[in-house]
Amino acid sequence: MSGRRILVTAALPYANGHIHIGHLVEYIQTDIWVRFQKLRGHRCIYLCADDTHGTAIMIRARQEGRSETEVIGEMQLAHVRDFSGFDIEFDNYGSTNSDENRSQCAEIWQALRDADLVHQQQVTQLFDPVEGTFLADRFVRGTCPKCAAPEQFGDSCEKCLANFSPTDLIDPRSTLSGATPEIRTADHLFVRIEHHHEFLEEWTQSGEHLQPEVANYLKGHFLCDELRDWDVSRPEPYFGFEIPDAPGHFWYVWFDAPIGYMASTRQWCQAHGEDFDTWWRDTTTEVHHFIGKDITYFHTLFWPAMLKTAGFNLPTRVHIHGFLTVDGRKMSKSEGTFVQASTYLEHLNPAWLRYYYAAKLGPRLDDLDLNLDEFAAKVNSDLVGKVVNLASRTAKFIAGQETAAAYPDDGGLFVNAAAAGDRIAADYEACDFNSAMREVMALADAANKFVEDAAPWVLSKDPDRQAELLDVCSIALNLFRQLAIYLAPVLPRLAVQTGELLNHPITEWDQAQAPLAGTPVGEFQHMMQRVDPKQVQAMIDDSREAPQLNSEPAEETPDQAPEPEADETADQAADQAADQAADQDASAAATSEDNDAADEPLATCDAHQQEPLTTEHCSFDDFMKVDMRVARVAQASHVEGADKLLQLVLDVGGDVRMTVLAGIKGTYQPEDLVDRLVICCANLAPRKMRFGISEGMVLAAGPGGQDIFLLAPDSGAVPGQRVH
Ligand SMILES: [Zn+2]
Repeated sequence: MSGRRILVTAALPYANGHIHIGHLVEYIQTDIWVRFQKLRGHRCIYLCADDTHGTAIMIRARQEGRSETEVIGEMQLAHVRDFSGFDIEFDNYGSTNSDENRSQCAEIWQALRDADLVHQQQVTQLFDPVEGTFLADRFVRGTCPKCAAPEQFGDSCEKCLANFSPTDLIDPRSTLSGATPEIRTADHLFVRIEHHHEFLEEWTQSGEHLQPEVANYLKGHFLCDELRDWDVSRPEPYFGFEIPDAPGHFWYVWFDAPIGYMASTRQWCQAHGEDFDTWWRDTTTEVHHFIGKDITYFHTLFWPAMLKTAGFNLPTRVHIHGFLTVDGRKMSKSEGTFVQASTYLEHLNPAWLRYYYAAKLGPRLDDLDLNLDEFAAKVNSDLVGKVVNLASRTAKFIAGQETAAAYPDDGGLFVNAAAAGDRIAADYEACDFNSAMREVMALADAANKFVEDAAPWVLSKDPDRQAELLDVCSIALNLFRQLAIYLAPVLPRLAVQTGELLNHPITEWDQAQAPLAGTPVGEFQHMMQRVDPKQVQAMIDDSREAPQLNSEPAEETPDQAPEPEADETADQAADQAADQAADQDASAAATSEDNDAADEPLATCDAHQQEPLTTEHCSFDDFMKVDMRVARVAQASHVEGADKLLQLVLDVGGDVRMTVLAGIKGTYQPEDLVDRLVICCANLAPRKMRFGISEGMVLAAGPGGQDIFLLAPDSGAVPGQRVH
């Protein structure tokens, strides 16, 4: 084994809220990957910390009449408790509000200064005169300047989708105090990221460090243009570190958060007598970051630029995952699907969620759906029915004895499963856990067939066939142990139980290559229960909250905020991805959809009543005839004399342009459509309409009139890509 040295991080959870099952996708994914590396014999450390700074914590502490350190200290304990409840094992769990982080920030800051990348510039922002603080966009609400919709956030209108600056809002008010904000100007410090444009182009596009869709997203949205300066400071009052050479200015929380990875490493090094530079300056060390797709921008542009400037190791790979949905929808407090980690643990076994997520996680950025029926069915059929069953049906017959002195002939089952080890390992390495789980379950199927055919429960009743019984059980238990080794990164407790049952702890991946012969078999202890759907329902009931009309300061971390938009300006970028505060509110929009309608019974569906589901199948070939493509709206204009139509010129990739007349005028303004990505049917026969020829069709949902919702691809898609 090669003995790689691997440093792994997961995004730092924000100290303003508890861990929920959406966050757990990432921490479990990372934990599985780390445990896999350790099992393979590599030196691998898993580092994390609480992300503690920013306006949101400051305001919360004020509201609760406590100090910030008290607020973040309490939350850190809760986070650590939740993580360990899910067997997520960090080598060090720190805090961004630590001495190690302060000095690490200062070091990187000095490097940016020395490289002459920092400059000062005035920023005009809304200011809350009651709270005495500048307001991130998401802390301002008011009336949309375009369509007059009330109660819109400071950066965009949910009704007409217009983007604007918070200073454009009509009747703005602070969501912190309700006060009317004032417009104030303050100095901010900016880092010139453009200086590293060429380096970032090369680093992001090399094919080595990022998933291809992420590389495309960065190229299409940011690197195609000049990179805007990054606003890295906030004026006082602010909860964070004061910038040593700029009194009254604090590092913006997004500056010190990723540096927290290094600070956490430093704490670990101090505790274990390790050399920090070995982990962050020796280029033979691999650095792997696991993050959600919403914070792509920070980790793939700003962060490498900072590391490069200061001469630290660049990320070997940034592994980016999608968001969690539950039963196909956003997590919702009113539906009870916004489940806190601690609530889950009160009702359900953490191993179940670890396995379910593993079975769902692939190497791409697709969102992951927790379908609660499937969750119960999959755990019951795979883990209980196929894996644990192998042991529970055989161990009892030879408990207190030793397995066969020589491993019996099993018709090639063990050898076959041993040969699968490299394939399964390659899947884990590539974060294709879904594929790894499928491989393991196929092996489990073969093992179960063997047990079925051999029927040890019949042999056990025949005194003349005890030797045969011993052979059958020895084979079944060895095949079971092989599976437990392959599943050990996902199910560490099962691996421990298996080690106890067979008096041979599981510590290395390669243990799956050789069967145990003559090992004592212990009493079979219960390993895993079946999921009872009633327990799942009880968890959902416990998580259900009365619907709220407004988004209260959400208990949320920044790692679930929406992805950065293409058209960010420097201060928008800062605001949007934000003063944690902004993130925090934005993330509420991303993860908790609280609406009244959600609690209604499922009986009727208006959409089905208007347009019943088609019962006639279309053949796959029929479907493939429809050529749907990602397109960018290059131009949009009104059509003279038409009430409902807009004329769109679509960029369908390359030089291909397509003119489409779309009946979406009731909902969209031409100026709001330009540069948006849409999905179009590119091979619809051209239609001559009263106002001209339409060469295609853009796809939208909704009954029409003012209720039209254009379909758009996730970020990363580029014009011309086919929709499958
Ligand atoms: Zn509007």
